[in-house]
Amino acid sequence: AKSGGRGAFRFFEPELDELMHARRNLERDMRAALAGRQFELHYQPFVGAATGKTYGFEALLRWHHPQRGMVLPGEFIPLAEETGLIVPLGEWVLRTACAEAATWPAHVRIAINLSPAQFRSKELVPVIVGALASSGLAPHRLELEVTETVIMHDSEAVFAVLAELRELGVRIALDDFGTGYSSLSFLQRFPFDKVKIDRSFVNELSSPRAEARHLARAVVRFAVSLGKTTTAEGVETKEQLDILREEGCGETQGYYFSRPMPASDIARMLRRGSGA
Ligand code: C2E
Ligand code: CA
Ligand code: CA
Ligand code: CA
Repeated sequence: AKSGGRGAFRFFEPELDELMHARRNLERDMRAALAGRQFELHYQPFVGAATGKTYGFEALLRWHHPQRGMVLPGEFIPLAEETGLIVPLGEWVLRTACAEAATWPAHVRIAINLSPAQFRSKELVPVIVGALASSGLAPHRLELEVTETVIMHDSEAVFAVLAELRELGVRIALDDFGTGYSSLSFLQRFPFDKVKIDRSFVNELSSPRAEARHLARAVVRFAVSLGKTTTAEGVETKEQLDILREEGCGETQGYYFSRPMPASDIARMLRRGSGA
């Protein structure tokens, strides 16, 4: 459907072509990266708001591109989802993160992000069962983070998979809470154990604008009132932490405590923490 004159069509051509070219390069590079071990996981702690104790770490993908240096997931996850590459990449993440977490003290959990495409793949449950079996990680130490987008796609099928995973003892977290469009009753029906309050609200807790501050507090209160474990994301200041604690938020995560770090730094930190 070429609407507009031939001139208009040609006007867009070079840009489109460049975009397609960049995409093809990125896709080719990602396939090579998976084979060439250019991906790495960094881990960011989540910490009790009142206790200051570390309860676990979220695994976050990093790509060491041979020419471009470190590439963040925002740049490659969308294309990995579109092309289906997220399925083998996600499997690598699950296996690597579970194996790493199995070396940590038994009370420390691992949180792993899942994409909608992984839910459509049919392989998800067997892959998770396999990652748990080969690592020896206890299922209750594994938390899977999903966004509302995952549930919106095909909620009945996704509900069935989530129920199966919870049967195994795995915990489910709803990521980016407050940014989606689900109804409150939908959220109540959804079988999850934990709510992660989106960074945008945590950020507004210290806003100079009163309305923004009030909205942020309301979102935190609503998350807490669902009666699940709550984790606030993107905590950067003491002030934000204090408000979150006061509102009854259980766990916090963000640069205030730590940036995401390589596995070797986490292992060192945990050894220090246990006094070894
Ligand atoms: P997310 O799951 O919401 O992860 C939180 C993001 O916030 C991470 O960005 C983290 O580095 C960043 N962050 C943490 N604390 C702070 C803070 O105090 N301030 C600010 N400004 N940012 C903070 P990152 O690592 O770039 O990841 C971006 C997104 O990419 C993630 O958002 C997640 O949706 C996706 N992602 C990352 N790793 C994976 C993965 O293994 N699989 C899948 N499917 N998606 C992943
Ligand atoms: Ca997450
Ligand atoms: Ca999030
Ligand atoms: Ca996000």
